[in-house]
Amino acid sequence: MSVDVIAKLKEMAGDPGRVWIVGGQSYAGLLAQTGQLANALVSLGLKKGDRLLLQVEKCEAVLSLYLACLRAGVVFLPVNPGYTVAETAHFLQDAEPALAVTDADRVAGLEALGSRVIALPDLMSLASGQRADFADPNHGPDDLAAILYTSGTTGRSKGVMLSRDNLASNAEALVGLWRFTEADVLLHALPVFHTHGLFVATNCVLYSGASMIFQRAFSPAAVLAALPGATVMMGVPTFYTRLLADPGLTRQSTAHIRLFLSGSAPLSPATHAEWQDRTGHAILERYGMTETNMITSNPYDGARKAGTVGMPLPGVEVRIAGPSGVLPQGEAGAIEVRGPNVFHGYWRLPEKTAEEFRDGWFVTGDMGAFDGEGYLSILGRAKDLVITGGLNVYPAEVEAALDDLPGVAASAVIGVPHPDFGEAVVACLVAAKGAALEEGTVRDALRDRLAAFKIPKRVILLEELPRNAMGKVQKAELRRVHAGLFADR
Ligand code: AMP
Repeated sequence: MSVDVIAKLKEMAGDPGRVWIVGGQSYAGLLAQTGQLANALVSLGLKKGDRLLLQVEKCEAVLSLYLACLRAGVVFLPVNPGYTVAETAHFLQDAEPALAVTDADRVAGLEALGSRVIALPDLMSLASGQRADFADPNHGPDDLAAILYTSGTTGRSKGVMLSRDNLASNAEALVGLWRFTEADVLLHALPVFHTHGLFVATNCVLYSGASMIFQRAFSPAAVLAALPGATVMMGVPTFYTRLLADPGLTRQSTAHIRLFLSGSAPLSPATHAEWQDRTGHAILERYGMTETNMITSNPYDGARKAGTVGMPLPGVEVRIAGPSGVLPQGEAGAIEVRGPNVFHGYWRLPEKTAEEFRDGWFVTGDMGAFDGEGYLSILGRAKDLVITGGLNVYPAEVEAALDDLPGVAASAVIGVPHPDFGEAVVACLVAAKGAALEEGTVRDALRDRLAAFKIPKRVILLEELPRNAMGKVQKAELRRVHAGLFADR
């Protein structure tokens, strides 16, 4: 069994000189503050198993409150501050939190929905008057630690129930794999309402006793200024493409970094290659999702293969299945996962949960295939698979070919209803700065790279692709906008 997050925090806080946030709190200070916050939550009547919804702009207190909830056994429920009051209503109704904590200017909006709300500054000042020592109750590894809502690109977003051991086991696996030590300084510019910035980043630091440079938002200039003081950076692919657009990104500005990590969305092989050219670093790509924490990772020492997400983490099993069972090595199919990283179901949706498991394996909804060396490639979400004239087209394969063409900055391939083919492959493209793309030339350029049925029937040029907060392309939105493309044929 893995070491619980709070046991690890206490161990790390034993060294009074250990720094949690560069220029800010020590681990000892963090432990004391989580004790005060846990006492404050108890004084407000919160009990083990109650939910606490947190919707605030990114700040250090989010991490303290996450850990305070773990201490008190209160279920932590962070919500994207970009959501409107109307959108947040769903989480309040569904999760029925005992308390909602928000920025001062949002209190009235959430109160109007009938919730018990406190402004974050008020909670922090209530906590500062509390004792730092907190009588931690006993917690079991399967106790609920957090509920994170999925981004909900199809239908209502679902609450993912994560246990203490889900978090702990994944943290232990990642620290070992990525060689985190107390000498590391992580550059943290990710959102903290999502699994990547909240659990992957924070728990890797905590479980190794490392420190972090905590930036409240991503800005290429701020990241470039901080890189010389950091040893590891975690990012989504958009961080890397935006940094590449900055002339300040050089071998010299990245010389102090030992590891660049990417995940949450596909990193194009073109970006991987360009990064390696400019900086000399091979970005290490990994794969995971809210429901499973991290699943696979490229190796630290072995080849970091662009366009792949590497091998299963220690203790995690991955299989590729078709409709009638597990497929032979090399074949493309549904990615299924089993292990201590897999969540405990969707909040109050036992039937939906049951639908997503097959013989104890979680069906991720992603399609993929293993190569002969055991590296997994993600071929796209199952629901994004395009079936044209009865043939399967994996968007990722077409996107990789498009991204390789000169002048293409980003691409997204979707299936659009077509009277003859059922669906037609359609490419949405963003041109690189100064490049002029033309539909016919793009299609011609693909002819010697892809079979005819995979070549997009239409190429649509866009200023930018619709993306969510983690940089994931919103394909459902593209499908909706372009649904009528072949309607009058
Ligand atoms: P989320 O639950 O918001 O973290 O989204 C999880 C989904 O993001 C996965 O199911 C994948 O579709 C996608 N994803 C995460 N990491 C990668 C990656 N390295 N490459 C491709 N897709 C990824």
